[in-house]
Amino acid sequence: MHSAYVDVHCHLTESAYELDLAAVIERARSRGVTQLVVNGVDPASNRQILQMQRQYPTVRAALGIYPIQAVSRYLSAPLPIAVEVLQDPDAEIRFIAEQAQAGTIAAIGECGLDAHWLGPDTFAEQERVFLALVDVAKQNKLPVIVHSRKMEVRTYELLRETNPERVVFHCWGGRVKKAVEIAQQHPGWAFSIPANARRNGAFEKMLCELPETSILTETDSPYLSPQPATRNEPQNVVDTIEFLAVLRHWKVETAKDLVWRNFCRIFAT
Ligand SMILES: [Zn+2]
Repeated sequence: MHSAYVDVHCHLTESAYELDLAAVIERARSRGVTQLVVNGVDPASNRQILQMQRQYPTVRAALGIYPIQAVSRYLSAPLPIAVEVLQDPDAEIRFIAEQAQAGTIAAIGECGLDAHWLGPDTFAEQERVFLALVDVAKQNKLPVIVHSRKMEVRTYELLRETNPERVVFHCWGGRVKKAVEIAQQHPGWAFSIPANARRNGAFEKMLCELPETSILTETDSPYLSPQPATRNEPQNVVDTIEFLAVLRHWKVETAKDLVWRNFCRIFAT
């Protein structure tokens, strides 16, 4: 199989794509971005993604529970982002496990820990839901796509203890040195670098310093656009690969092949 560009973390279920989802997916496909791992955050998006996967050959489903949704039933203060309250995370964990067992999904995610939006009173429940989803990934030998915002050290601790085979740290905000150390100690684990790397020193440094076998690309679309205040799209991973090639003095094709091989290994395609 020829190498392709990959976006291992995007949210094409967001309302930002309501009007032109097909065009967004086609724009990516026409530039060679033919693996879009669309990540779920709650029951509605998880089901929408399964539908999207049936409709578009380049879409692959990752089902998860976002940390905010995991504890939404306990939150009283209105949060800056609108979330639907999830009354029964365990029912959703069971649904995700059923899909994993049926072989309909490529990964578990988005899931993880968050201390940017959420306070310490939620940490125990966040960890419980995260660990249950990591367990589903382990049982089904699937990669787990991890959110670790302001909780990078604790997230790593939990993953080191439970030791799933394949982990993708999405949009790592911890120290670059720590990411490099983690990648060196866990050859099956990777870091997906967002498309805004040209204006983010830490992501640029990760592209330079991570072991070659630990680099993946993502967009987190519609967020983290390379152009501030615009909607992001999966096609923007092409530019991250070009940037990686420049930084490492490689041909673009070399960078693309490398990330493609990492994707095939971690997502076992
Ligand atoms: Zn995300």
